[in-house]
Amino acid sequence: MRSFLKQHTAYDVLPVSYRLIVFDTRLLVKKALNALVQNGIVSAPLWSSEKQQFAGMLTVADFINLIQYYYTHASVDEAFREIESFELAHLRNVEKHIVGAAAVAPQLTSMDPMATLYDACRMLAESRVHRVPLLDREPETGTEMIVSVITQYRILKFIASNFKYSKVLRQSLSELKIGTYKNIATASMSTPVIQVINMFVEQNISAVPIVDSNNVVLNVYETIDVMSIARSGRYKELDIPVGEAMEARPKNYPGVHTCTLNDTLDSIFKTIRKKRVYRLIVVDQDNKLIGIVSLSNILGFLVGYRRPKN
Ligand code: AMP
Repeated sequence: MRSFLKQHTAYDVLPVSYRLIVFDTRLLVKKALNALVQNGIVSAPLWSSEKQQFAGMLTVADFINLIQYYYTHASVDEAFREIESFELAHLRNVEKHIVGAAAVAPQLTSMDPMATLYDACRMLAESRVHRVPLLDREPETGTEMIVSVITQYRILKFIASNFKYSKVLRQSLSELKIGTYKNIATASMSTPVIQVINMFVEQNISAVPIVDSNNVVLNVYETIDVMSIARSGRYKELDIPVGEAMEARPKNYPGVHTCTLNDTLDSIFKTIRKKRVYRLIVVDQDNKLIGIVSLSNILGFLVGYRRPKN
């Protein structure tokens, strides 16, 4: 597996033809949100025309940082009316001020398109970022160039489709011990949305399983769900129960993907080939929560990276 990953580059993962949507940092936040919706995307790289360089990724993390801060420090409604009327560059400055430069730093990570998949997996597993832009330089002018953005999912789909044989793929999750099985952050249907958002930030996680009093998994609230609050500007929804907020999900919402400890990496790869999954919730035969296997856990496993214990 490792030699396979070292023989391929990030560039190999890119489709033959694709489109790339990049926002100028002078674009208004409101327009950027509309452009995300219109193009059916949830993030985009930013470009500074002034400096002629990449200026970070705009992701749901930006909106989560702001929502969390303004919820505790000011009127969210007012704050967002103000935020929507300023430019993306200014949004970054505000974020640096409120959450600190270190929290904003991961959005500035980038990678060379010719980096090996081994290095890409390692970087994504260590940094926990879900996507990374590929940056190159124009040979003649030396100007920075955004080639594409690769995601954890795209890399894993490439591996799942092209890596054919290995004994390790036939081992079960209980043998491989991939994922998190202790101190899982959960919520109930009645937990207010803002409390779940606080869990995302405090534990640096992208999903919280929603369970009943018997720990049976009912649903999963994801960071991506926060995007619909930011898009619609319905910040009052931060106080409503998460169960109610999830009712407003689009009809084509892909749903929750679960697996058991008996599932093999092979069967997980099969799911990844067929569906756009971001994580699998590990349950027992009664659908009770046991653990979470995030894509970063699988990428980390493939390159032998284990997250240091908190
Ligand atoms: P993710 O944000 O999904 O890429 O996950 C980052 C790390 O946090 C991985 O090691 C996951 O297994 C772990 N993780 C994800 N969701 C939770 C959760 N609700 N509680 C505890 N750990 C989690």
